[in-house]
Amino acid sequence: MSKIAVFPGSFDPITRGHESVILRALPLFDTIVVAIGENSEKKGYFPLETRMSWLRELFVSQPRIVVESYSGLTIDYCRKLGAHFILRGLRTAADFDFERGIGLMNRAMMPDLETIFLLSAPEYSALSSSIVREIHRNGGDISRFIPEAIKPLMT
Ligand code: ADP
Repeated sequence: MSKIAVFPGSFDPITRGHESVILRALPLFDTIVVAIGENSEKKGYFPLETRMSWLRELFVSQPRIVVESYSGLTIDYCRKLGAHFILRGLRTAADFDFERGIGLMNRAMMPDLETIFLLSAPEYSALSSSIVREIHRNGGDISRFIPEAIKPLMT
C-alpha cells in the first residue's frame, strides 16, 4: 500500500519553515500532497492560485510531492485520496496544544489516520506565514524567509 501523507495548511505564503518540513518528511512517505485548505469565509492574503503556483514551481522537480487545494474537512479529503497520514510541523508549545486537539479529533473521526509531527528546525522555529505577511504588507524584505528557489517569483 502506497504511503500518502497530506500536509494541509494555508501556505499564505509558503516559507522556508514549510519547505524544510516537507523535504525532511519526504523519506518517510511515498507521496506528500501539499494541500492548501480553501476557506470561503477567510480569503487569503495572497490569492489561492498564486499560492498554488509558488508551491508547484518550488516542487516542480519532485515527482513525489503533489500540490493541490481542497475544501471541507481534512479527513474527508484524506479519505478521498486514500491518505492515512497527516503531516504537521511543531514550532512551539502553543503549536502542540493546538495540534493536539485537532489531531485527536481527526483520529476520533477517522481511526486509521495518524498525524505525524516533525519538530521545526531551530532556525525556523520563530518563522510563521503571518509574520511574513506582516513584513510584506508593510513593504519590508521577505526574501530571507521564503524558499530560495522561488524568491524571484515572490519578491
Ligand atoms: P495553518 O493555517 O493550518 O496553520 P500554515 O500554512 O500556517 O497552516 O502551516 C501549515 C503547517 O506548517 C502547520 O503544521 C504549521 O505548524 C507548520 N509550520 C508553519 N511554519 C513552520 C515553521 N517555521 N517550521 C515548522 N513548521 C511550520
